[in-house]
Amino acid sequence: MSEIANTKKYEFKAEIKKLLDILVHSLYTSREIFLRELISNSSDALDKLRFESNRGTEIAGKDLLLEINVDFDSEKKMLTISDTGIGMTHDEVITNIGTIAKSGTEEFVKMISETKIDANNIIGKFGIGFYSAFMVAKEIVIKTKSFKKDEPAVEWKSDGLGDYEICELNEKIERGTKIEIHLKDDAQEFAEKWKLESIIKKHSSFISFPIFLNKEKINTISAIWREPKSSITKEKYEEFYKFLSHDTDAPMDVIHKSVDAPIQFNALLFIPIKSFEFFWHDRENYGLDLYVRRVLIQHKNKDILPEYLSFVKGVVDSEDLPLNISRETLQENVVFNKISSSVTNNILSHLLDKAKNDAEWYKQFWSEHGKILKLGYTDFLNHEKILELLRFNSTNCQDKDELVPLADYVSRAKNEQKEIYYICGKTREAMMADPHMEIFKKKGLEVLFLPDPVDEFVVSSLRKYKDYDFKSADTIDLKKFDELPNVEEQEQKFEALTDEEAKHFSIMLAKIKSIIGDKVVDVKESKRLVESAACLISGDDVMSASMQKILKMANQNTESPQKILEINPNHKLTRNLLKVFKKDSNDEYIKNTAEQLFETAQLQDGNLDDTHALVKKINNLLEQSSDWYCTLKNI
Ligand code: ADP
Repeated sequence: MSEIANTKKYEFKAEIKKLLDILVHSLYTSREIFLRELISNSSDALDKLRFESNRGTEIAGKDLLLEINVDFDSEKKMLTISDTGIGMTHDEVITNIGTIAKSGTEEFVKMISETKIDANNIIGKFGIGFYSAFMVAKEIVIKTKSFKKDEPAVEWKSDGLGDYEICELNEKIERGTKIEIHLKDDAQEFAEKWKLESIIKKHSSFISFPIFLNKEKINTISAIWREPKSSITKEKYEEFYKFLSHDTDAPMDVIHKSVDAPIQFNALLFIPIKSFEFFWHDRENYGLDLYVRRVLIQHKNKDILPEYLSFVKGVVDSEDLPLNISRETLQENVVFNKISSSVTNNILSHLLDKAKNDAEWYKQFWSEHGKILKLGYTDFLNHEKILELLRFNSTNCQDKDELVPLADYVSRAKNEQKEIYYICGKTREAMMADPHMEIFKKKGLEVLFLPDPVDEFVVSSLRKYKDYDFKSADTIDLKKFDELPNVEEQEQKFEALTDEEAKHFSIMLAKIKSIIGDKVVDVKESKRLVESAACLISGDDVMSASMQKILKMANQNTESPQKILEINPNHKLTRNLLKVFKKDSNDEYIKNTAEQLFETAQLQDGNLDDTHALVKKINNLLEQSSDWYCTLKNI
């Protein structure tokens, strides 16, 4: 039993002060959600009580009905929310009410303090809990009695400004928690019947315990996921989804499954129309609600679905799990694991079906949830399905918004082609302009654009689609390309090098190698370049430049890997360089240009460390060329 001293005063923690400050000073719309939060806390407390009772724990007031009462008194400007749930001991009040328990609340505070987003626009989506009541309260009193028999009842009181008081409660109360809200002058509408009734109906109508408003029952409890599909209207699904997710929009899609064999379960799942990932802030706030025979066992269970399906919201209910199953042992439960893989398969099959039959829908879906779904590359058992669900932009697309499934890419592949080519870069434009793309244009081969850093992990982990290996554009084996015809014979801008010129060219390449030194493995004539003068390619190693960059970022000490510098013999710069070289192989101009070509190629690969040196050199060259220009023009 807790020892309770007389009234004690405590100061709020800094994090709570910050939250209170936002709640009290910057919120003027959506204040009604405080009631949703308090009713949801009561419902959780009742769920916990029922769970203890099912486990056979001895509980105080065991004959009390499990219910929630909302009472108002417009004269006294007061509102009371009480439940017969698990209650709290003195120490629990201090720890539970004294800290921000929800990661969602923490994220909310962080977002509002760090960004310019208006709290009013997003508060509804966050479950910010008990403290939201201070949006409408000038004082809150909590009276609570734990389900543990010998624990005394406790009273907590605060005006939400800086501190709170806590003491043993004088009056005798039965098990559960009562929250008394003394309303602010501008919040008296929350002591009016029509207002309270409409808020409860809007946000809490699916709470699975009876809710009474001044003794009148106002919610009809129904486990909608257990009802036959045909009896549920679109509106009812929408209403339930909004209750469950706190989303203000209707869902993009509903998946309602009732499975009887080999394991019985009902699943009601929703795909939100907009991603909940507020700049990746919402990562922890996912999961499905797990019920056993209509009793909530776990809110936001994160193990039923793999993380890459975390955008799905919903409920799973099974007859075949024991009611007293503990959350800790769920993952080891065979039935639970079977339900989990069946729900996963159901979602994947549903998405495959949509992808096949409703391209517009799938395009919208992919743009919202593709970022998460593609993390499915980690699910080895479902690789084939994930591959079919992936979408890319490619050189075959008219614009950056068009999407290509791998099946389409492969259907367009050339007869001799055995690989799916991709290129990494920041934007479609940057990737198109990459010198490594020139050979693909020449041969008319489609290349996938991979703008997201995770994309390359996705394709390299999946390794292949059907018989086609994924291959980065900068690690290709050029010999394979020789056999492929050119799309159209490009007009030769330059005569082929004569034998003598070719000899000079190879001596010049050796010279360039000696200028650049050990920073490259070799300097070679390029067979891939058409329009650019030079590019870097990986030697024997097969890692693409972008992958090397990622690894380099992860480990600061890693040196840039060694590459081969390829020089295009059919480029004006090279031909001029050759003339200079023939005249004086030690001309400074050769050194400057060689270094410049090397560094520009590094820049294009995203692997240039010292951009300042490059800029300085460019400026020197510009200065020189301005002199030449003036001379040329007789200025
Ligand atoms: P959350 O509900 O996300 O945990 P809250 O700030 O709303 O965050 O509540 C903090 C904690 O206080 C809850 O986790 C719960 O332990 C306790 N609590 C709140 N309301 C009640 C209640 N009506 N009955 C019992 N415990 C409650």
